[in-house]
Amino acid sequence: MQDLLEQIKQELDKVKTLPESVLLWQKYLGKTGVIKKMIKDLGSLPAEEKRARGPEIQELAREAQSLFDGRQDELKSLNLQTASLAQAESLSLSPAKVGHLHPITETIRHINNLFIRLGYSIMEEREIETDEFCFQRLNVPADHPAREMQDTIYLNAPNILLRTQTSSIEARVLQNFAPPFKIVCPGRAYRNEKVSKSNHFIFHQYQGVVVLEKVSLQDLFGTFTALFRELYGPDVIIRFRNKYYPEVEPGVGPDMQCFNCRGKGCPLCKGVGWIEMGGAGMIHPNVLSIAGIDPEKWMGFAFGLGLDRWTMAKYKITDIRTLLGGNLAYKYYEHESTL
Ligand SMILES: [Zn+2]
Repeated sequence: MQDLLEQIKQELDKVKTLPESVLLWQKYLGKTGVIKKMIKDLGSLPAEEKRARGPEIQELAREAQSLFDGRQDELKSLNLQTASLAQAESLSLSPAKVGHLHPITETIRHINNLFIRLGYSIMEEREIETDEFCFQRLNVPADHPAREMQDTIYLNAPNILLRTQTSSIEARVLQNFAPPFKIVCPGRAYRNEKVSKSNHFIFHQYQGVVVLEKVSLQDLFGTFTALFRELYGPDVIIRFRNKYYPEVEPGVGPDMQCFNCRGKGCPLCKGVGWIEMGGAGMIHPNVLSIAGIDPEKWMGFAFGLGLDRWTMAKYKITDIRTLLGGNLAYKYYEHESTL
């Protein structure tokens, strides 16, 4: 009888589900089961033997039943665990949204990485500037349109203002550092402009200033080409145009073929098929002189990139307001981390 109990125990251990355990129960304790048959067979035994065997078989039946009860309880709790595990797995299929860096921040870091590789130092500069560093030191004459009240946001006219361009950084760098140096600096600039799809009164620029003993426009073009390819891939189409900026001579403007219409012309590029990506040029000798740097010995180039446009082109954002807006639904863009 102990052998029989042992056998049931072993078979029950192999049982993995409740229906299987019911089948096994029928084999031993069901109407035609092994133990039920032993009880029935008692009837055909002589009275004395019946008295001796009867209680033993009843005890066997009880013990067998309690083995089944125990195993079935285990299986029920295992089933519950499996069910909750399955539920947990199905929940994990929809991962929580954890957010990501602002696209401008990602673009800044991406560009920083390139300039670090090119041997530049990265710095920060003040957003509140003086007229001297925002204009005078950059060769901006008193009657230049950029100085008019409708463009500049003054905190305390006529001297304290929010920088209208990151060229003020160029003036600060030339004043504070002795050449040779290669410096880049991302930051915000402010102009009293009407907000539209392509203009905002707050915008982001990326300023670069290089002063070496020998450097040429060719180095500037090479730097820009490396930068455009880094951000937009080797097939990017760019062009350089002659531009006038008072702090440089000659001045150039890099344009990128419009990512929205591929050069055909659309509202984003105002129908011309190209988007201005910034301004640059060889630093004007006057600007070097004002900062006490000898223009006979040193030369340099400077550039300012419109970071909003660089970011919009990278993430195919067609409205500049998206970058500073609070509407999350409006902020959707195909996100591709660059970090
Ligand atoms: Zn276009």
